Amino acid sequence: MPETSDLVEVADGITAIDTMMGGRPRYTAAYLLDARELTLVETGPGTSIDPVTDALDRLGVERDALAHVVVTHIHLDHAGGVGGLSARFPSATIWVHERGAPHLADPARLVASATRAWGEREMQEFFLPVEPVDASRLRPLGDGDTIDMGDRALAVLDTPGHASHHVALVDSRSGAVFTGDALGIHVPDLPVLRPATPPPDFELDRYVASIERIREAAASVLLFAHFGPLHDVDATCDLAIRRVRGWSAVVEDAMASTDDPEELAARLEAAALDDIETGAGATLDLEMLEDRLRLLSSIRMNAQGLARYWRRRRERAEERSSAERPS
Ligand SMILES: [Zn+2]
Repeated sequence: MPETSDLVEVADGITAIDTMMGGRPRYTAAYLLDARELTLVETGPGTSIDPVTDALDRLGVERDALAHVVVTHIHLDHAGGVGGLSARFPSATIWVHERGAPHLADPARLVASATRAWGEREMQEFFLPVEPVDASRLRPLGDGDTIDMGDRALAVLDTPGHASHHVALVDSRSGAVFTGDALGIHVPDLPVLRPATPPPDFELDRYVASIERIREAAASVLLFAHFGPLHDVDATCDLAIRRVRGWSAVVEDAMASTDDPEELAARLEAAALDDIETGAGATLDLEMLEDRLRLLSSIRMNAQGLARYWRRRRERAEERSSAERPS
């Protein structure tokens, strides 16, 4: 198995592929599972189509031999490249959460909402093109489903919280779990684990429950999309839960005195500085790391997702209490 910098075997028969999102190393991983039916988990965005195709070529995957492509959710950094890759690998069946499937067949709304969030320039630099997937090749996933690869299988866990259209995948052979963004993102060079709490779907209780399900299912290693393997399952799950509860509390507290999105983001930013685990910055390319955090873990977007969550909770509580009030 090749071990060049962008292709590393991370578990039994699982090779991590650096998708070189926007030309950057170690932002977003895809994974190739060696099985009777070869399977790719995650694709990276549109700017990853060429690098991932090239990686699959180097791994000896014939164009007709890729049998399955599975994405954990439809955010463009995970699934934006799936349309382009599906055209190059014409035998692959494309698997995605049932809520996400219509958006891969017709990505117009996905692209529009990402453009609102990121702006045209970053769309070009990181995410485009986003091509549709032929609907006849799409298979919707739900909780408890299994993707059969012949001599190994992926079990599907519905894992909402980060997004309502998110699944985690448990590999039958290695016990590895593909976590997508369910535990947040982990930047290995810092190292730092940060929650991923974007609008519009972030839900704290579901996010924590999904991590607990992943903890229970993971027999060996957690494979993050951003980026790579984490072997201490319990410690990683504990940290991810502690962090998301901490971030949620920071924004809830701040909302007692302000609704200003910039102020909420500033408070979260200050709190997030404490999350970086070591002071080992001297030899690191800090500019590159900052760029990576900005893109994969935008504080502004995370603060917006958290604030939206607390507002909706408040509204629901008010609705309940007015319904209970005697008229
Ligand atoms: Zn995501």
